[in-house]
Amino acid sequence: MFSIKETNYVFKNWSESVRCEPEQYVEPNNLSELQAIVRQAFVDRKTIRVVGAGHSFTPLVATSDIMVSLKHLAGIDHIDRENNLVTVWGGSLLKDLGTQLWEHGYAMENLGDINKQSIAGAISTGTHGTGIQFGSISTQAVGITLLLASGELLEVDETNEAGVFQAAQVSLGMLGIIVKVTLKVLPAYQLTGTSYKLSLDETFQQLDTLCEQHRNIEFYWFPYTDTVQVKTFDLAAPNKEKDQKQMKFKKVVVENGLFWLMSEVSRLVPQSAKPISTLSAIGVPVGTETNDSYEIYATPRLVKFQEMEYSVPKKYLPTILRTIDEVVREKKYAVHFPLECRFVKADNIWLSPSYERESAYIAVHMYKGMEFSSYFQALEEIFQAYDGRPHWGKMHTMTKADLQTAYPKMEDFISLRKRLDERGIFLNEYVCELFQLKN
Ligand SMILES: Cc1cc2nc3c(=O)[nH]c(=O)nc-3n(C[C@H](O)[C@H](O)[C@H](O)COP(=O)(O)OP(=O)(O)OC[C@H]3O[C@@H](n4cnc5c(N)ncnc54)[C@H](O)[C@@H]3O)c2cc1C
Repeated sequence: MFSIKETNYVFKNWSESVRCEPEQYVEPNNLSELQAIVRQAFVDRKTIRVVGAGHSFTPLVATSDIMVSLKHLAGIDHIDRENNLVTVWGGSLLKDLGTQLWEHGYAMENLGDINKQSIAGAISTGTHGTGIQFGSISTQAVGITLLLASGELLEVDETNEAGVFQAAQVSLGMLGIIVKVTLKVLPAYQLTGTSYKLSLDETFQQLDTLCEQHRNIEFYWFPYTDTVQVKTFDLAAPNKEKDQKQMKFKKVVVENGLFWLMSEVSRLVPQSAKPISTLSAIGVPVGTETNDSYEIYATPRLVKFQEMEYSVPKKYLPTILRTIDEVVREKKYAVHFPLECRFVKADNIWLSPSYERESAYIAVHMYKGMEFSSYFQALEEIFQAYDGRPHWGKMHTMTKADLQTAYPKMEDFISLRKRLDERGIFLNEYVCELFQLKN
């Protein structure tokens, strides 16, 4: 029988901005147990939210009813070597998938900057990495098996129920439970990463060339400074030795240990945020590393923060950052975290922030324990003025009316949701409020 932890189970997300006490927390051991849970919930008129790794900043998984974890429905289900397709269980953690795929000679084509998420959780919110030739992780999914409110399974892809597939690729857990995902994968590859500094002007001048010339490129801009840390990844030369000791040390000690210490100072003395940002810009780790692809994308994130991220049309990025620079200096916000800028190819996924447009994503962080709302609100106004679309897993204050303007396929998504789950067993208070649905 599946394990049910009925009493006193408290869920907290990674940043501890969300906390809830579900009536039942369930970890089914297999698919038939999961189907039984859904059928029972339907009969009992209960609602279900699935939790992945709990790394979303928004209350997407919060529930007082049933919380289900697919931690036992994880790993590779089957491999189609002819077409480089691998079907994995929805509860698989990206970190584990990295090693499991590698053992079979494969790797995911791109990843974000951590690998703690589950595959279903990552695609459900449109989690992305960087590199203008790549879509978000959702675009690596070429097939999805959904467990519907009826307890039945529905397999969808671009040829079978294409609309449901494009909706399910970013669906916030609202259409059903993603049981399996078929991923298009690449033969295992290594990357060489380079980190160096540029000025903001140089970055803007070189941006298109950098995006064209490098497989993956992102940059961090330090508020109150003109300094940018550029990070690029390119396919490693054949037979290049793995070499990551120097950068690993810098990432752990400088980007985490020292940065944590400086963040604490900033929290205790907010006026120090500006000099700390300047100091961090001076100490940007510079160097190169070569490693297996699945190892190199992820960075340790030991310093906790709150985060908001918007996707904007790529062409607006320089104007937006210049505007942010003015606003931050004028309002003197206590912020020392750099802004992270990444690039994602356009896709056709209904609720994707990259829907039908080449996008730049700008992520804004605030150290945990420091006031973030006025800073986030001021920047959110700027993002919205430039057609910004929020990352679903990160903080934002958009209402249904704002979302309708930002996401042209939102009404189609809402109608489809109603068709697949009339009773609303996969809803929670947060998504009902966000999409103005009756539960
Ligand atoms: C330190 C940190 C770094 C991050 N880095 C990045 C980054 O580089 N790029 C980026 O884009 N985002 C990033 N994020 C955001 C994160 O990738 C997303 O919030 C992602 O959704 C988290 O995955 P999860 O497995 O924790 O899902 P959860 O947060 O647990 O759930 C997210 C959503 O997925 C749904 N869900 C989960 N499993 C299923 C399932 N089996 N079936 C149906 N629905 C399901 C949940 O109900 C919920 O709606 C980061 C977050 C943190 C905390």
